[in-house]
Amino acid sequence: TQTTRQTLVMGNWKLNGNKAMVAKLINDLQAPAAQHPNVAVAVCPPVLFLGQAQALLTDSPIALGAQDADLHSEGAFTGENSAVMYQEFGVHYVLVGHSERRTLHGESDAMVAAKFAAVQQAGLTPVLCIGETLEQFEANETQAVVERQLQEVIAHCGIAAFSKAVIAYEPVWAIGTGKTATPEIAQQVHAAIRTFIAGFDTTVAAKIQILYGGSVKGASAAGLFAMADIDGALVGGAALQAEEFAAIISAG
Ligand code: PGA
Repeated sequence: TQTTRQTLVMGNWKLNGNKAMVAKLINDLQAPAAQHPNVAVAVCPPVLFLGQAQALLTDSPIALGAQDADLHSEGAFTGENSAVMYQEFGVHYVLVGHSERRTLHGESDAMVAAKFAAVQQAGLTPVLCIGETLEQFEANETQAVVERQLQEVIAHCGIAAFSKAVIAYEPVWAIGTGKTATPEIAQQVHAAIRTFIAGFDTTVAAKIQILYGGSVKGASAAGLFAMADIDGALVGGAALQAEEFAAIISAG
């Protein structure tokens, strides 16, 4: 990353955890987060544990995030949770368009854009997840795919909306597979994303944090963070182990 942008390390716990695990993991992360005040740290537990996490994070530098939000703030939408509701739980970040939502829940680019808008309207910070599949990677379509995913949100929300957002580039082939993109491959895509944003607004492009996600571990984090356009990580599996996540924070 460049010194003008703060490194952000965010844990996406996905559908994992129980009350005892939430208490222990958050407790174990307090010291590493406090020891690295230059790195912004956030955790995204399942919504059921947001209240518990909020209480544990009082006076903590660790920020709270949610993994998804409905595009509506309230209404007859059984099973959903809204960004407006997250306000009461001290939630700062909300992931939108994670590849598991796009694939397993059929979320379209248009739906992701509407969710991005809903999160911002509630005063929270969307973390827009983008990235190509293995087939798209092998067909050299990476740049076209991420640009299409960004374009939809820019068209719906305007480029100024990205002054209060985070982007997470997560190649689908690297998520949960143990295959991290090399720092050089990731940097190339991150630079292309920033250049694309700069085509709309250079100030927004210079400021926005672009995280890398996909099998990030303690051992791979420093190499990624050394790259000019990689401003942090969105971490799945390794975020469930305090020591591993702490090592990623230390690399920031
Ligand atoms: P992973 O997940 O670190 O387990 O690959 C990353 C993500 O899905 O955000």
